[in-house]
Amino acid sequence: MPATPAWPPASLPRLYVEERLSDGQLLTLEGPKANYLSAVLRLTSGALVKLFDDATGEWLAEITDATKKRVTARVDRHLRPREAAPDLWLLFAPIKRGRIDWIAEKATELGVAKVVPVITQRTIIDRLNSERLFAHMIEAAEQCERTALPELGEPQKLPTLIKTWPEERMLLFADESGGEPMLQALTRGPAAILIGPEGGFTQEERAAIRALASAKPVSLGPRILRADTAAVAAIALWMSAAGDWCEHAAR
Ligand code: SAH
Repeated sequence: MPATPAWPPASLPRLYVEERLSDGQLLTLEGPKANYLSAVLRLTSGALVKLFDDATGEWLAEITDATKKRVTARVDRHLRPREAAPDLWLLFAPIKRGRIDWIAEKATELGVAKVVPVITQRTIIDRLNSERLFAHMIEAAEQCERTALPELGEPQKLPTLIKTWPEERMLLFADESGGEPMLQALTRGPAAILIGPEGGFTQEERAAIRALASAKPVSLGPRILRADTAAVAAIALWMSAAGDWCEHAAR
């Protein structure tokens, strides 16, 4: 054990808060957050927590009062600035509940900057609950020491997405029917990965995406993957070849 243990300890509870944090600020937490801190973790006045706001970074705060319904805390010390997220978007067609939540969670852990649900011809639209999806992203960021949350974009229909595509952003279109091997297709710069639904893309959709100048059809190997596996595999490849995994040395 080191002579001077790291302070504050890494194991302190971490919470995302919507309001912007600043030094000395008195903060009131209500609803599920208050319940979690006071009833689940049984924290009382004097306990320390880490808070982050997706804008100023992470702060150390001390609880000054705690009831089940209401917890007040004083923001005491700035611990870390908000991290820079690599410029990668994940576009995916909504799939089954548990699996879509898993995609949102893993995309957050892996560090994408933006997540956008895309409605394709074979997408079953009533599966999408953006609020629940965002809650999973927050939970992943809280657990994994993230100080930035991916933006959750409004669901977009595929034709609209194609029509309004920002030219400078490479659209890596994961095409199970064949494409350039993903690793070979990657270059540095803003990018997005597009993953289809369980039923895949229609021929018409494939042709429309391929017609876009910034689109590159990519292959994730000879085996068909489920959409959630394809999303995570593609993000990991991009991060290691074109994102910040290449620059990161041991802590
Ligand atoms: N078309 C198949 C399965 C679709 S898999 C079917 O009809 O059952 C869901 C999505 O994952 C695909 O649309 C594609 O975006 C991605 N995907 C799966 N395996 C892939 C592979 N080997 N290469 C590239 N993309 C893949």
